[in-house]
Amino acid sequence: MQFSIKGKNAVLFDMDGVLYDSMPNHSVAWTLAMEHFGMRMTPHDVYLNEGATGFDTVSRISLRERGRAASDDEVREIYSYKAALFRNMSPAGIMQGSKEVIRKMADLGLQILVVTGSGQNSLIEGVQRDFKGYIVRERMVTSFDVKRGKPFPDPYLKGLEIAKVDAREAVVVENAPLGIRAAVAAGIDTIAVNTGPLEDSILLSEGPVLLLHSMMELSKWLDSQ
Ligand code: CA
Repeated sequence: MQFSIKGKNAVLFDMDGVLYDSMPNHSVAWTLAMEHFGMRMTPHDVYLNEGATGFDTVSRISLRERGRAASDDEVREIYSYKAALFRNMSPAGIMQGSKEVIRKMADLGLQILVVTGSGQNSLIEGVQRDFKGYIVRERMVTSFDVKRGKPFPDPYLKGLEIAKVDAREAVVVENAPLGIRAAVAAGIDTIAVNTGPLEDSILLSEGPVLLLHSMMELSKWLDSQ
């Protein structure tokens, strides 16, 4: 059966790679930061780990590259180094089509929420400014709000709790494999928007109800709803 968002009450947006074209910057920042600490992390690694908390990402790469987990202090040091590099880059633009998508979703009567693994305050504050009238901090789940990040369902379950809706009444918009896995694990119909370099098959294997290639395409799709 063809997927439709009719009857949905809330939409939960991922942030990086969905609302912002920020993944190229994250990719460079991660690669340079890990290199600084003697570890190799490729852009492909960055996209595969996208959505996970900084803590989980550093731990996973450390295990692979050094055969040992990173200590809490090391993780903090590496993540703040990465975050500083990211902050000093030219700001990531708003993803083309994302404002239209949010406006159309709101017009369809859906509550708007953001569920991100990010713990970067500059981004969390920016999203409220850039999508003013639609997104407020109280309706955002960030890495500060949950213990276990994506791919655990926790961030999305928290989002459902805030929206006061059942999983069946919600829809998620995600661009990352681990993000899709988290949303599907929370029992939510998930629209995959493949805005990065990964193959569609990697995203499709996580079980989205629909796969599109840009927020512009999603905006167009919404016109048929
Ligand atoms: Ca993302």
